Amino acid sequence: MAHHRRAELLSDRAALRTRMAAWRESHQIVALVPTMGALHEGHLSLVRLIAARADRLLVSIFVNPAQFTPSEDFSAYPRTLEADREKLGATVDAIYCPPVADIYPADFVTSISLEGPATTGLEDRFRPTHFKGVATVVAKLFLQTTPHLAVFGEKDFQQLCVIRQMVRDLELPVNVVAAPTIREADGLALSSRNVYLSEGERAAAPLIYHTLTQCAERLRQGDEANLVLAEGVAILEKSGFSVDYLEWRQADTLQPATTIEQPSRLLVAARIGVTRLIDNIAV
Ligand code: AMP
Repeated sequence: MAHHRRAELLSDRAALRTRMAAWRESHQIVALVPTMGALHEGHLSLVRLIAARADRLLVSIFVNPAQFTPSEDFSAYPRTLEADREKLGATVDAIYCPPVADIYPADFVTSISLEGPATTGLEDRFRPTHFKGVATVVAKLFLQTTPHLAVFGEKDFQQLCVIRQMVRDLELPVNVVAAPTIREADGLALSSRNVYLSEGERAAAPLIYHTLTQCAERLRQGDEANLVLAEGVAILEKSGFSVDYLEWRQADTLQPATTIEQPSRLLVAARIGVTRLIDNIAV
C-alpha cells in the first residue's frame, strides 16, 4: 500500500503551544486556515492560495458551538476528521483540532461583538448571535495560533467583512487574505452543508448562482435594482426556495448599493428543504 505523508495532528492546546513555540523560535511565517472541517475543494483552495506566502501552514478544525443558533445544526454538523486528514495529506504542516474545553473553558464568559458589517441586516437578521460566535472564536484562534496570515473564503462574504473589521478595530497583527469561491461545474458553491441536499434539491441548487449571475448582469445594464431583486426572489421561490434575503450591497461596508461605479456584491440566503444555502458574487 502506498504510504501517505500526513500533517501533524495537534489535538489540544498544549500540543499547539509546543508546535507554535518551535515555529516562532525558528522565525517561520505561519498561515492559519480556520475551518469547521468536513473539508472540500473550497477549503483546499484556501490552503493552496496561501501556500506560497507562508513557511508553515496550519489548518484549524473546530465546529464552533457559539456560532450556531439553538435551532441550527450544531450536533448534526458533519464531523469527518479522518477523511479531512486524508484530504489535506501532506499539503499542510499541522492540523489543530482542539476539544471545546480548550477554546471555551467552563468559566469562559468573554465575547466579541461588532456593529458595522455584522449588523447590516443580512445573515445577522436570521442568525442574530452568529457573528458574535464567529468573531469570538476567530479572535481566540488568532491569539492561540499567532499566525502572520489567515485566509477566509469570499463564499461567506459577510463573515469576511466582519473579520476584516475586527482585525482593523483591534489592530490584531494578522494579515487577512480573501479567497475566491469554489463552485461545482454547475455553479453551486461548495459547502459542507451541501451533503444535506436530497437529489432533487441538489438538482435545483445551482439556480441560486444562476439567479445571482442574471441579476448582476441586469444591474450592470442599468435595470432598476428593486425590480431586479424582486424578480430574482420570485424565480427562486417558484423553484421551491424560501428566500431569506437577496440584496445588493457595497463590497466594503455592506451598506445598500446604489451604483455599479463602486465595488458591490449581490448576496443571497435561501432555504430548500432543511438546508440553508448562502452565496454571493461581485456585480
Ligand atoms: P467553514 O468550514 O464552512 O467554516 O469554512 C471555512 C473557510 O472556508 C471559510 O473561510 C469559508 O469562507 C471557506 N469556504 C467555504 N466554502 C468555500 C468555497 N466554496 N469556496 C471558497 N472558500 C470556501
